[in-house]
Amino acid sequence: MDVSQIADRIAAGDRRALARAITLVESSRPDHRGQALALADQLRGAGRQALRIGLSGTPGVGKSTFIESFGLMLVAQGLRVAVLAVDPSSARSGGSILGDKTRMERLSRAPSAFIRPSPSQTHLGGVARRTREAVALCEAAGFDVVLIETVGVGQSETVVAQLCDLFILLLAPAGGDELQGVKRGIMEMADIILVNKADGELKSAATRTCADYAGALRLLRRRPQDPEGFPKAMTISALEEAGLAKAWDEMQALAEWRHAQGHYAARRADQARHWFNEEVRQGLLAALTADPALRGEMARMGEAVAQGVVTPDSAAAQILARLKAGG
Ligand code: GDP
Repeated sequence: MDVSQIADRIAAGDRRALARAITLVESSRPDHRGQALALADQLRGAGRQALRIGLSGTPGVGKSTFIESFGLMLVAQGLRVAVLAVDPSSARSGGSILGDKTRMERLSRAPSAFIRPSPSQTHLGGVARRTREAVALCEAAGFDVVLIETVGVGQSETVVAQLCDLFILLLAPAGGDELQGVKRGIMEMADIILVNKADGELKSAATRTCADYAGALRLLRRRPQDPEGFPKAMTISALEEAGLAKAWDEMQALAEWRHAQGHYAARRADQARHWFNEEVRQGLLAALTADPALRGEMARMGEAVAQGVVTPDSAAAQILARLKAGG
């Protein structure tokens, strides 16, 4: 099947063609890379947009339970839902976060859902590019909602925040009065905090935790792209499917407000610029390391810098001059 046939089938919503195209964007083979770029160019004009929702939370907080319940609710409303993962640690942990076959079993069987595990790749830049291209492919395939899941560790939230329209942070009820060790940066990215497991014995702890986070969010300055009341914290139970419809209402309300204010398009424009710069940066780095002479020079310069023979800045300037001069 050639690129334009794959493009036609993706545009017709064919999930197998979509899966195949994502395999293409994950490949590092130069011919595959060329096909992936051609495919992206062909599909770009389709003009379809999905609501891209980033979802972050530490392992065990209930991400897969939430995605299954939430995804099935959206599917029942007639929406098409795609789920992707950003998981830079998958190679280390020996399995991807969506790789476990038992996760989201019911959602994966729904004809209007598409679930794609994270590839086994440690390099965050590679995962980011693959996810970005996969999101675009899902949009071209006519999905209404694309959920981008990440574990709440490391840099992956920053990547997801640069890929999504809304960023959701999933938390578990805290035992005591203390806020969980959520980094300020992650709090600042969150549009909505969902305190999960608000059921049974954990219900009152969840309510307390939610109030704590609502307080913490109020202390963060409101951003110009937020309407009154956002960012906000809410309790849900993914297991009992409680609070999910309300959470969806809030997500839609926020998205609509941002659309009306022009923030939505502005955010996507900023993201496009960010990824363009990032790709150029990555390409330059790749060019540096692909050339054996330059690579050797980098190693020598690194050593000279470490020994104090040359300053880091001067060494970098020399390497860049060599790169500009063509090696
Ligand atoms: P993930 O690692 O973030 O994907 O978390 P999982 O979805 O696998 O859930 C981890 C554990 O928490 C499982 O035992 C779930 O059954 C449980 N869990 C998830 N959501 C809820 C919830 O809303 N309430 C309760 N009580 N348990 C939940």
